[in-house]
Amino acid sequence: KPLLRFAPSPTGPLHLGGLRTALFNHAFARRTGGHWILRIEDTDTSRTVPHSSERLDLYHHYAKKLLDGGHAYRCFCSPDRLAQTRERLARAGLNSTYDKHCLSLSSEDVARRVRAGEKNVVRLNDSILPAYRAEPDLIFGSLRDSHASLPTDPVLLKSDLFPTYHLASVVDDHEMGITHVLRGEEWLASLPLHLDLYAALGLMPPHFAHLPLLLNPDGSKMSKRSGDVQVLDYMRRGWEPDAVLNWVALAGWGTHTESFDDIPKTAKAPDSTTVMSLPEIITNLKLDVLTHRRTILDYAKLEYINKHHLMRTLSTESGLRALALRAQGHVKDAFPHTTFTSVKYIEKAISALQGRLVTLMDLPTAAPYFFVPPAWADAEARAMLDGISMEDYQNAMRGTVERLKSASPWVTQTLADALHAESKAEAIKPAKFMTALRHAMSGTKNGPSIAEMMDVLGKQRTIARLEEAGS
Ligand code: GLU
Repeated sequence: KPLLRFAPSPTGPLHLGGLRTALFNHAFARRTGGHWILRIEDTDTSRTVPHSSERLDLYHHYAKKLLDGGHAYRCFCSPDRLAQTRERLARAGLNSTYDKHCLSLSSEDVARRVRAGEKNVVRLNDSILPAYRAEPDLIFGSLRDSHASLPTDPVLLKSDLFPTYHLASVVDDHEMGITHVLRGEEWLASLPLHLDLYAALGLMPPHFAHLPLLLNPDGSKMSKRSGDVQVLDYMRRGWEPDAVLNWVALAGWGTHTESFDDIPKTAKAPDSTTVMSLPEIITNLKLDVLTHRRTILDYAKLEYINKHHLMRTLSTESGLRALALRAQGHVKDAFPHTTFTSVKYIEKAISALQGRLVTLMDLPTAAPYFFVPPAWADAEARAMLDGISMEDYQNAMRGTVERLKSASPWVTQTLADALHAESKAEAIKPAKFMTALRHAMSGTKNGPSIAEMMDVLGKQRTIARLEEAGS
């Protein structure tokens, strides 16, 4: 059974890239009947963590195996010597970063210096690596010129006896029985080194799938330090959790543009704004639908997706209730003096506004008239009354109030019928009559139907509002 892991370094709050990696691990594990583990990789700060010595022994065990097999060696070079060597090699136009100076030390020499407590690191010996059968990356395909960007004889164990990320990650993945590594593209360059380590240790590597980088809307690389990347900020700003998952899931989702030998190109890419719940993502997310193309996270898409998730959620009783509970705080913050804050009332307001709310946080600004009296004196409101005389307006209010007093039950359909009948009985044209009512109810041209607004506001408040507008 597949076993995956999400292995963030504890360097800051979760960002969108991390969220996508975790989501893909989760989706892949769920769909294939496997599991995934959360592994916090604190390779730099682990000296403060109790029990870390338990794993240190493990890394030392593997380092020793490599030393004994001649696949690694101890290096005593000072930082100064290393810097000078790097410069010299670069000046000579060479690609290597180290001259393998300590590889030629005799084993007696090494043993003596270790006994004397001389500081040293353990390096991989990249000159005698066993060949491995490199399986193509499940998303990027086969790796070209794969060792070019690696340092010469990379350090595996530091002089403080802690492993570098590379050794730790290979040992942990092996020891934990990880079958599939799904991680960010930034690790693709290290993959040849990781495969070297598996080969040198005589271990079977897991399957690898690297997820393409996410880009900011301006095309720059998204990083922890740039742009709007913290997942918590998205939650604070009122985006639906399911919509954010949906949005990041679609980043990297597409058909392959190149053909990779053993990867079937069967699945069809969903439209780039396909609205999916988490279970739907799990069903649809197969590795062969993923692309290695870098994706821009487009906020217009998030808005579209969020709006549709809201509409889905409010279509069920429990979903609507949960939304209203979340919105209640925003409403109270926006209108500290309003009394229109019951959950039931907010549920009705949200339902009436469906399709008009991009996020739940928009509720107070999208329809302030549900919570406070309309701003009748504003320019927008006054412009609505162009061509409507004061007399017609007041008559419309009076007539409507009379008719509504007997409207029963107080539901949208009955109210719409009553307004229709009243518009016929009025002296002014039906369109102007409706504009006058909309002005009185909301003071703004856009919004739900007048009957819906009346339904939300309730009988007493509607009548009071029309009377006040017409007085
Ligand atoms: N700890 C690494 C990171 O923060 C994870 C690399 C991996 O998944 O192998 O990105």
